[in-house]
This record gives sequence, C-alpha cells and structure tokens, in this order.
Amino acid sequence: MISHDDHRARILAAAPAPRVERLAVSGGSLLGRVLAADVRSAVELPAFTNSAMDGYAVHSADVNEPCELPVVGDIAAGDTRSLSCEPGSTWRIMTGAPMPEGADAVVPVELTDGGVERVRFEAAATPGNHIRHACEDVRVGDLLLPRGTHVAPHHVAVLASSGVTQVDVVARPRVVVVSTGDELRAAGSELAHGQIHDSNGPMLAALVEAAGAQLVEQAHLPDDARAVSDLLERVVESADVVITTGGVSAGAFDVVKEALIEAGDVTFDKVAMQPGKPQGFGLLGERRVPVFTLPGNPMSTLVSFHVFVLPTLDAMGGRPPRECERAVVERGWTSPPGRAQFARVAVRRDDSGRLVIHPNSRQGSHHLGELAEANALALVPADVDVVQADDELDIQMLLTKE
Ligand code: AMP
Ligand code: MG
Repeated sequence: MISHDDHRARILAAAPAPRVERLAVSGGSLLGRVLAADVRSAVELPAFTNSAMDGYAVHSADVNEPCELPVVGDIAAGDTRSLSCEPGSTWRIMTGAPMPEGADAVVPVELTDGGVERVRFEAAATPGNHIRHACEDVRVGDLLLPRGTHVAPHHVAVLASSGVTQVDVVARPRVVVVSTGDELRAAGSELAHGQIHDSNGPMLAALVEAAGAQLVEQAHLPDDARAVSDLLERVVESADVVITTGGVSAGAFDVVKEALIEAGDVTFDKVAMQPGKPQGFGLLGERRVPVFTLPGNPMSTLVSFHVFVLPTLDAMGGRPPRECERAVVERGWTSPPGRAQFARVAVRRDDSGRLVIHPNSRQGSHHLGELAEANALALVPADVDVVQADDELDIQMLLTKE
C-alpha cells in the first residue's frame, strides 16, 4: 500500500499545466475566474483633472473671504470642451466634469447660495480642494491585478475603468463524470430488488462545479469493459479530466480496471486510507488526459475527490492549494490500524473560539445518513488507532458552493 500523500504527489506531478483562454470583461463571465497573467494599465486614471463635488470652479485667490463672482456658465460631466477660468470669474461645475484651465479649487454648492448668473460664496476657498488630479490614482504601466487573482465584482470595475475589454484567464478544466455499475439506476427511477440509485454521478457533478471546474458530461455505464473503453476513447478527445466511479476493487465485475489496464498508462494502487483504498490514476490518449478511477462506495468517492481530484483541479485551474486547519476532538473514536482515516465530522467554533470536532457516529464507506451534520473531513494519521478527546487533527472543509 502507498500513502495518500505519495499517491497525491504522483498525481500532481503528472497533472497538465493550466490552459489559458481569453474572456470579455463585460457580461459577467469573468466572475470567479483566475487571471492567467498580470494586467497592467495602458491608461492614466483619472484621465483628466476633474471636480470631486458639485460646486463652483474658482481661482482660490479670488475667494479668500465671503464674496460674490459672476458665473460664466455650466460644465457638466461629459463636457468635452477645453475651457478656461479667467481670474475674477467662476464656472458652475458638476462632479466628474473636467476642470477649466486656471481654476485651482472647487467650492461645494452647499457653501454658496447656488446662484446661476452670480454666486455668493459663504466661506473662503482652499487651494486644491475638491479636485481629482489627472493620474493621481493609476499611471500607465501600474499593476492593476496580479496573475492568480480570483476575479470578484470589484476587480471588474478596475478593469473596465482602465479600458480593458478582454483578459487572459485560466480555463476551467472540462470534466467528464462516469458512474459504472449494473446495479445503478438514475435518481427517481423505480428500483427492482438489488438495484440502487446512482448517487456518485450527481454528487461528483456537483463537486466538479463546486471546485470551479466545468462539468461537460455525466454518464452511467453498465459493468461492461467494452462500453467503458468506448466512452473513454470518445471523451479523451475533448475532456481535460475524466472521473469514473466503481469497478476498481477486486470483484469479478471490476470492468473499469479491465478496460484501463488494456488502455495502458493507468496505475491501480491500494492506498493506505479509509475510506478510498482502491485508487487508479493515469493519463489517457494522445492528449494525456488525467483519469481518476475512484472506488464506488459513495463515501469513498467523496473522500477520494477531496484528497486527490480537488488538488488536481485546483492546480489545473491556476488556484492555490486549499488550506488545512487544525481542530480539537471533542469525543474520541477508533480508526483502522495502518491506514489514514478521513472521518466525516462536524467542525464548529466553541464559546472560547476553538475549532471543535464532532465525528459522525458511523464511518462506513456506505454510510451517509448523518452526512447532513458533517462539514469537514478530519485526517487521522495512519499510526493512530484511537482518537482521543483533546487530540488535535488536520481538517479539510467539505466543498460547498464556490
Ligand atoms: P464497486 O467499487 O463497483 O465495487 O462498488 C462498491 C460499492 O459502491 C457497491 O456497493 C456499489 O453498489 C456502490 N456504488 C458503486 N457506484 C455507485 C454509485 N454511482 N452510486 C452509489 N453507489 C455506488
Ligand atoms: Mg461496481
């Protein structure tokens, strides 16, 4: 048996580099995407000196005490004229409107009588007040957003303000999910004795989306090696990652193994973990598409996804590895000897602010009745057989919506 750390390291070493695609800044599709390159500004911001208030543009020397001045006219936001302000006069000006040449201050309308032909200033003007100077915010060549930025709505404002229309982002890995098993029926179908609903397929579809990757196909196949080979042959033409479940243990109908051993370049290992011992990973076809063959029990699939598939999708998607936290065990449990256990647990903060672990009471790889209470996996090291109250463990949060 190999350790889960070694298995994961092998997978990550083989994972392909991120692909890059170009996306439009407008339209919302950039949200949540990861920038593939630094974005630098090609412009200055503000592009022109403008007023920060609705008020009057003045020579501050003209208004060093309460006084009145003639108003030359109005300058609205969007006014494209090149205007100047002669000493002894003022322009009524709106927020964002270009400052007239010569004026060195704006007096807010609230400090005046609001006059249109002539205006009375109630207080002295301070030089430089309420003016936004050209390029005070951004200069040509400034780093607007670094590579690796996970684009949020406020980043879109930075790009749009700077006139950027398209950016290079890391492509979301396109993922195909395949459930195998003669016993499986789609959720909602009537079941004959011996049949069960396919839960891995829908769960993996949701996990792929929650990981920020793109589900391109979800299929269910019978236990038939030919059907598995045919589907894999087809999907490796365009998918970036394939995830199968079932058919990789030691049973008589473990057809995924059969199909892939023929295809070559896929290794099947026993990994020292619970759940999730039988694992397969390899690279398929000319495009060397990573394929994960996960064991069929739903909790084995859930754990295997978090431990092996998620770090790979993150790496291919240009994202940093997810952080692990430490938490304290409230009530102990036993763990299988010689294997790392990924226990389903509820992690909460107690009154003193500590992260505290409550395990699900059943940890079988088919038990999911208590799953609603779990929000994390707790890693019990392989050399620990008895977890005791007050032990500290690494926890990995279960994926939720991105
Ligand atoms: P296998 O890995 O094919 O030997 O399957 C191990 C166990 O997981 C069996 O009890 C299967 O019925 C169950 N199983 C396999 N695939 C799924 C699935 N997609 N949804 C729910 N249970 C499954
Ligand atoms: Mg099976």
